Amino acid sequence: ASSLISLRSSSSSGLSEFVDAKIELQDIYQDLDKFISSLMITVEGSNLLDEAEEQQQMEQLRCFSSKVQAIEKVMSRDRMKVAFFGRTSNGKSAVINALLHDRILPSAMGHTTSCFCLVQATADEEDPEHVRVEQENLHLELGALKELASAHSPRAMKPSTLLHVNMPRSRCRLLDYDVVLLDTPGVDVTAQLDDCLDRYCMDADVFILVLNAESTISRVEQQFFKDVASKLSRPNLFILNNRWDMASSQEPEMELQVRDQHIERCLKLLIEDLGVYSTVEQARRRIYHVSALEALQLRNGCNQNPTVPTQERYLEFQRFETDFSNCLAHSALKTKFEQHLLSALDILAQLEATLIGPLTSKLGQLLKETGEEANKLYAEINDQGLRVVQRKEELEDQVEKLCEEAQAMGQQVLR
Ligand code: GDP
Repeated sequence: ASSLISLRSSSSSGLSEFVDAKIELQDIYQDLDKFISSLMITVEGSNLLDEAEEQQQMEQLRCFSSKVQAIEKVMSRDRMKVAFFGRTSNGKSAVINALLHDRILPSAMGHTTSCFCLVQATADEEDPEHVRVEQENLHLELGALKELASAHSPRAMKPSTLLHVNMPRSRCRLLDYDVVLLDTPGVDVTAQLDDCLDRYCMDADVFILVLNAESTISRVEQQFFKDVASKLSRPNLFILNNRWDMASSQEPEMELQVRDQHIERCLKLLIEDLGVYSTVEQARRRIYHVSALEALQLRNGCNQNPTVPTQERYLEFQRFETDFSNCLAHSALKTKFEQHLLSALDILAQLEATLIGPLTSKLGQLLKETGEEANKLYAEINDQGLRVVQRKEELEDQVEKLCEEAQAMGQQVLR
């Protein structure tokens, strides 16, 4: 029976496309940076422009150069962020642990998360696994997390604290794909921390609401997401009815009835209350019934003989994982990279219009007057002009490809 499920699998096709696109885009920008430097050398050494013109052109090139370098920096930091919300003990940390295939965050009765925890891969080879308290230069071992982030520990941090949980890239696939996961204190606490919400959560690409399938959505949870939705235009929201193993261990007819009730309430939240989806069909695809605890146990080898219902719940967890990964990559490609591609295109278009065009025509005139002398320079500038045009065409192709990819991924998510 266990052939039904693949225990180690993690859906990541969309995420690997994000990482590939990031590498490609970084190459484009590095190339652009070198290209602008070589144009600067040409302009300075050409004697084609009078002093004022040369100064103006150099000023513009320097301005492009610093813009390109700034975007390169932003791009190297670009990551996809997923924020998890829900009432205390609904299993937010358990869901994150299941996604990471490991018990990283404290998740147990009496060990619920008391502050914001950002789980991410670190580039620090010397100190790959540690906890850092935001605004304090305090590095602690991963083991300290249990005390720092547990609501009932005497060393518990203030709810507004942000803990950076740094892991080596190799530890889990999801982090290697430049995904960061944000665990939050229960919504009842988080709702009172309006400034933290703005600071830590509003830039999330995807939001995951973790509900307890043994009860019903609370008013605090509904109100909380209404607030989030009013701040964001259309939050990308998934709803997990977690602890489904506990809730569904009843008569089969009851199970169906409870499931239908959850779905009805979640649909109301997504469509009527939040207005993030317009049709039942779209909203329905964002609602899942899972058991994070079982998913983690299967993934870390603690359950070698899963029952059929456990396997079914695990398949549902994997379906959630695939959908949210694709949605995440899709949204990050659109919101982050499209902008960078368009900026690169804009720089090239401006270079063509204000520098290469006038330089080429000046050279044409000079050639007429001086004959052979200017040939080498002409060839050089002509060559650079051609590279600008070629680069622009390549980038236009990239933008088109990106839009197609984003659209295809969007359809995958909807299917
Ligand atoms: P959080 O406060 O939302 O982060 O909740 P935790 O992840 O700490 O989970 C609270 C408790 O519920 C822990 O004891 C978990 O082991 C347990 N738990 C979490 N998810 C599930 C689940 O799907 N099924 C069952 N049976 N227990 C779960």
